[in-house]
Order: sequence, then C-alpha cells, then structure tokens
Amino acid sequence: MRLLVFSDVHANATALEAALQACAGSWDHAICLGDVVGYGPDPNKVIERVRPLVSAIIRGNHDKAVSGITDPEEFNPVARTAVEWTRTQLTPENLRYLVGLPSGPIEANGVVLVHGAVEDEDEYVFSADQALPGLLASPRSLTFFGHTHIPGGFSYNGSAVERIDLSLGRGKASDTITLDPKARYLLNPGSVGQPRDGDPRAAFAIADLEKRTVEFWRTSYDIASVQRRMEQFGAPEALILRLGFGR
Ligand code: ZN
Repeated sequence: MRLLVFSDVHANATALEAALQACAGSWDHAICLGDVVGYGPDPNKVIERVRPLVSAIIRGNHDKAVSGITDPEEFNPVARTAVEWTRTQLTPENLRYLVGLPSGPIEANGVVLVHGAVEDEDEYVFSADQALPGLLASPRSLTFFGHTHIPGGFSYNGSAVERIDLSLGRGKASDTITLDPKARYLLNPGSVGQPRDGDPRAAFAIADLEKRTVEFWRTSYDIASVQRRMEQFGAPEALILRLGFGR
C-alpha cells in the first residue's frame, strides 16, 4: 500500500492542487497531519478538497485556533490576523468539520499521525533531543508529524537518534529513504502550503509500506497567484512574502 502523507496545507489551494496533480495515480490512501487552514487565502476550497480525499486526518494548532478550541491570542499578531480572517470566511459546515477533527496521535493505515510531538500535539520537534521521547513512546515504528514545516525527520536504532538529511533542498524533485525494519522513525513530509526549509516548492511524502520506503516530493506551483489572493484579503505583508522564500 502506498500512502500519501501531507501536512500544513494552510489554506493554499494552488499548492495542494499542484501536489495532487504531481502524484496522481501513485498512492492508495491519503493521510493529513493537520493545519488545513490558517495563513492562506482558500480555507473553504482546501477543506472541501481535503475532506473526501483523506482516510485519516488530525487537527493542527491553526485548525484549533480557528475552531475556537484555543485562544488565538496565544499566536503572534501575523498568524492571529490570518486566524481571525479565516473565521469570517468559513461556511458553517466547514467550521463544523474543523471543530470535529480529532487530536493526534492516532493510528491509521499501520502508521501513527501527530501534528506536533507524540506527547503534545502543539509541541515543535526540531532536534534529536526533542524527537527521542516520541520515537520511544509511539505505538508504531513509523510515525509522521508536521508543525515545523521542515521535511525529513529522525530515526532511532536502539542506541542513538539520527537526523535524516534530505538532498531536496538542492533542487531535486524527490528523495527516497529506505526504512530499516529494526529502527523507529519520526518523519515529517514538510508543508504543502507554506514550506520553511528555504525551498518554496510544495512538500509532501509517499510511504510505500510494502517496499518500506518513504519518498519525499517537491512540486512547483504558481506562488504569485496565491500571493495576489492574499493581498486581496489584506494578509500581513510578512505572510505574503515568506511564501516566495520558503521561510
Ligand atoms: Zn503549520
């Protein structure tokens, strides 16, 4: 079974469409690691595209803030502006969908999904030290996380945590790692709608559970068209510009 794993679409319908087009026909089930909305200009469109697509999905911190589950006052002013605008845009049905999203970790298709850390859905996992507790605690050997918007992740072979370095940043369209059956993995597909590793292309992953491989993909999309729609809704300039830098 080939599993499409994606995260942090952040209401960027153009990036999502480009990603789905690039990998059309090469996956059997799709799972989403949260942050469907926030930052981007297309919250309703993205929810309506994601909803029928996924066999499993969890909420992210932006989904929670837009739902009113957490107080957007905890966000920085730029992110808060986007949360407040998103609330004014969502149809009642789409808002209900967001409110009903489960929190991670959950198990689906033989893997574990979390938005942030295994121990705390809102926690960032940037370092090997931060990855170790989740690598040990996860009920499965293969766990996918999002939240940092940085593709790659960590492996644990029983003695040390290793960071998985991808060559994607050097302009390649995909990079494949092979999973060691004796090791545990905490892997991040990167962000579809707002990459932050310096590469502005949409990021996602495909896990082949029989071959025990994970492919990390990148796809170019029309960033300028998204930036124009963000200008129309009065998004903060910092949010608009960062899409072009992938930061
Ligand atoms: Zn996010």
